[in-house]
Amino acid sequence: MTDSIDHNTAWAQRDLDHVWHPCTQMKDHEALPPLPIRSAQGVWLEDFNGRRYIDAVSSWWVNLFGHSNPVITAALKDQLDTLDHIMLAGMTHSPAVELAESLVRLAPEPLTRCFYADNGSAAVEAALKMSFHYWLNRGETRPRFMSLSNSYHGETLGALAVGDVPLYKSTYGPLLLDNIVVPGPDCYGRPEGMSWREHSEAAFAAMETALEQHASEVSAVIVEPLVQCAGSMRMYDPIYLTRLREACNRHNVHLIADEIAVGFGRTGTLFACEQAGIAPDFLCLSKGITGGTLPLSVVLTSDDIYQAFYDDYAKMRAFLHSHSYTGNALACRAALATLSIFESRDVLTEVRAKGAAMEAAAAPLRDHPNVGDMRRHGMIMAIELVRDRDSLEPFDWRERRGRRIHRHALTEGVLLRPLGDVVYFMPPFIINDDEIEAMVGAAIRGIELAVAG
Ligand SMILES: *Cc1c(COP(=O)(O)O)cnc(C)c1O
Repeated sequence: MTDSIDHNTAWAQRDLDHVWHPCTQMKDHEALPPLPIRSAQGVWLEDFNGRRYIDAVSSWWVNLFGHSNPVITAALKDQLDTLDHIMLAGMTHSPAVELAESLVRLAPEPLTRCFYADNGSAAVEAALKMSFHYWLNRGETRPRFMSLSNSYHGETLGALAVGDVPLYKSTYGPLLLDNIVVPGPDCYGRPEGMSWREHSEAAFAAMETALEQHASEVSAVIVEPLVQCAGSMRMYDPIYLTRLREACNRHNVHLIADEIAVGFGRTGTLFACEQAGIAPDFLCLSKGITGGTLPLSVVLTSDDIYQAFYDDYAKMRAFLHSHSYTGNALACRAALATLSIFESRDVLTEVRAKGAAMEAAAAPLRDHPNVGDMRRHGMIMAIELVRDRDSLEPFDWRERRGRRIHRHALTEGVLLRPLGDVVYFMPPFIINDDEIEAMVGAAIRGIELAVAG
């Protein structure tokens, strides 16, 4: 029975009295208060009035197998009764050991060492520091990093410095490391008739030039393999990564693959780097690693890099970096349960099929006069809205069409969170055909309303 009291409003008001939300201009909540969610099951979120919404963005890209997934939940309950958390310095526990063993088995060679942290930005920080420190331990000071235009690697100061999304970065410019941004392989707006592969390969010339110029002062190049998610879901071809791996070897610079968003199957392979047949020197993982239940991240690296830190204490070579919740036992156990789901069935084939179904459902937008591009890698799909499809002239961002689409979709029971004028879908892998239709349908109708005026 639903009663007539609006429970959402009461919770939203209490929230606004004290909670400061991430990535939000809080004044926006005068027009649209935060949506209070009471429970979540599978792809569905339920608010305090009993209305349900499809979580089309996997709660910021973390959820893989649905909310309250029974496999992960059972493992967590068991772990909670056994061991909650201990510090990982000087001690260890079975979930941390078993997870490291599993990740090493799944990751490309030669990644055999796992360093835990507790969120994506922290993994990026650890990888940057480790790379710098590796060269230092070898007698070289290399204080700079290289990253791609439109990249995003998190929002702590080091991670922000190697990113390139002005919305997050420009305010803090005076605080940041002097990073080298190289024009990237983003395929949006490429010359007519050029394939992704041709464009991405041609784009590599800028990286080659930058490496020739700066290699001796650069510790590492950091990239998001295949999809620049926070950078409006811009995509490129694996050939770029193949070229980059070869060039990093030739110029003797580390390669950091930030697979925090794309790892664990999102692009149709377990890790996006597999599509290029390469292994990075550092692989950063987080988001999907616990199936969307608890914060955890890990940096995988090679034994060669590990050995550069391995020495007598007095030589001051150790990697003395830590976070209180490093290798949290509950989070590691959730990650083990998540990996067990990958082992129990052919998840990657499902991802490819459902990605294709999302694209088919969006086919009515193919020739829409305000759709500048539709792109997809696996189960990440994006629709770029423009004022004019031929010139790709953008809409005025202050008109906030994405926000109108978000509001419309909520009325249809779908949670979308467009990035500016880019509408995207990144739902949990367990979404079914009817839910895909509902999700994409709500977006299509929202787009029609938003472009009309
Ligand atoms: C989300 C994300 C991060 C940062 O992770 P947080 O857990 O939000 O700090 C870093 N890199 C990429 C590619 C991401 O998508």
